[in-house]
Amino acid sequence: MKESSIHHADIAIIGSGFGGSLLALVLARRGQSVVLIDRAAHPRFAIGESSTPIADMILADLAARYDLPRLSPLAQYGSWCRTYPELKRGRKRGFSYFRHELGRPFQPATDHTNELLVAASGDNERCDTHWYRADVDRFFAREAERAGVMLLEQTAIECCELSEEWKLSLQPRQKPMMTIQTGFLVDATGSGDFGRQWLATEDVSETLLTHSQAIYSHFDHVVPWRDILESSGSLLYDHPFACDDAALHHLFDEGWMWQLRFDHGVVSAGFSFNRKVAPQLSANPAESWSIWLQKYPSIAAQFERAKRVDPPGKIFVSGRLQRKASRAVGRRWAALPHAFGFVDALHSTGIAWNLSGVERLAEILCESPDDTIRMKRLANYERQLQRELAMIDNLVDLCYETLPRFRLFVLAVMAYFTATVTYESRRIQSQTTSFMCADDEPLCACLDQVSRLLREMLHHPESEFDRAEVRIRRLIEPYNTAGLCRPEAMNMYQHTAAR
Ligand SMILES: Cc1cc2nc3c(=O)[nH]c(=O)nc-3n(C[C@H](O)[C@H](O)[C@H](O)COP(=O)(O)OP(=O)(O)OC[C@H]3O[C@@H](n4cnc5c(N)ncnc54)[C@H](O)[C@@H]3O)c2cc1C
Repeated sequence: MKESSIHHADIAIIGSGFGGSLLALVLARRGQSVVLIDRAAHPRFAIGESSTPIADMILADLAARYDLPRLSPLAQYGSWCRTYPELKRGRKRGFSYFRHELGRPFQPATDHTNELLVAASGDNERCDTHWYRADVDRFFAREAERAGVMLLEQTAIECCELSEEWKLSLQPRQKPMMTIQTGFLVDATGSGDFGRQWLATEDVSETLLTHSQAIYSHFDHVVPWRDILESSGSLLYDHPFACDDAALHHLFDEGWMWQLRFDHGVVSAGFSFNRKVAPQLSANPAESWSIWLQKYPSIAAQFERAKRVDPPGKIFVSGRLQRKASRAVGRRWAALPHAFGFVDALHSTGIAWNLSGVERLAEILCESPDDTIRMKRLANYERQLQRELAMIDNLVDLCYETLPRFRLFVLAVMAYFTATVTYESRRIQSQTTSFMCADDEPLCACLDQVSRLLREMLHHPESEFDRAEVRIRRLIEPYNTAGLCRPEAMNMYQHTAAR
């Protein structure tokens, strides 16, 4: 056995995705010594690419608060392209949804009763961005290194024990063993099993309502959806933005497909199935992919000449997407949101939620050196994450349940955006609040009422939907600063973001 060198650090962060890397960068900026450990090496493929106005706001705020001017161009698509043309990305003007029928080509309706477009920004300069994660995560990890963080890639954690301090035994690839002694540990491993292995957390995912599974990869030569719409005679003049410059959702009874188009022509695409109703996937991922494409002819037409690209070079099939750990904090440790839990890709919540965790943990770790105060603040952070995950889960599950009835689905989406827009407005007014305002009792009660009403409506005839819509509009009225749920909008929302 080779001799092990010993290093001391104030904080060790496990996982160098954008979450772990950004937290490391911020802490280093505030003078803390940080070790960032990952079992993989950058650049590496990662899924979860579609950013949102909330994510951009938090990134801009982190850049301003911690004096990190190199980050701020990434908070808007226009400045990103000008400042970092080498970091691959895609333009995202909003969210677009198209409802498909099994075995039939998509037929656009003149009154948009099978489409929903929700703009999240006013123009192409200030809009959101799809993050090509291999490039973006590497950029953040290298920025952390530049700020003095010790980045250990391709490093296995052999042992991780807490006595007075944490002691981590590490095995970097083809290098001698190392020992890290540190006062605090952050779990930023996302879906990794670090928490269960070393922090004694339990898997309590069965408490979540949503039950979905995804199959996904990256492709090129995917025909833009706009071209398919045009060839089917669709009138696009009142689309508030080009529908491919979006997190594009193709919806069907058993689930949905996402498409995120990057500027270099690659498209991130994946099916996400409601496991409560979808049949089992075949054991062969490529076969499953092709079976599901063929069910929806207009989507199949998009992929007629498409090729999988490398990376990742293969089709991934997930298990159940939903995860929840029993704890998000403990003695001398805390987890980022994405290591604590995850619901689904629907409506792109993950990046923003994780960034909100970076923001909160940075504040706690920089401002509360005293153990007792830090623990109190961490306990509050955990309470917030629990409530946030429950809120996201309820709203996303509601969307899955309403998929077979598009009008109800649209109302469920309106409920989801009510929470995000309320959060955006409160951030702008500098009101500190939990992510998506999950700690706001009246808002939660309102959304619970909407959720109950829509779930009930699933068993009612369509003729009753008008009344349900009126009730929902009234319920969300106190929060509805963005003009959501207006019949006259005919499912085409020009601008909903609060900024
Ligand atoms: C199918 C899918 C689609 C998604 N789509 C979206 C979307 O469109 N928009 C959105 O906002 N969010 C989306 N998300 C969520 C998004 O992926 C996450 O928010 C994001 O990846 C979190 O980043 P992270 O840095 O915390 O973790 P990750 O990117 O998961 O990075 C974790 C790092 O930890 C390392 N690691 C893991 N275990 C260990 C270990 N034991 N030891 C050392 N290192 C370890 C890994 O190598 C990895 O580099 C999606 C998620 C999924 C699953």
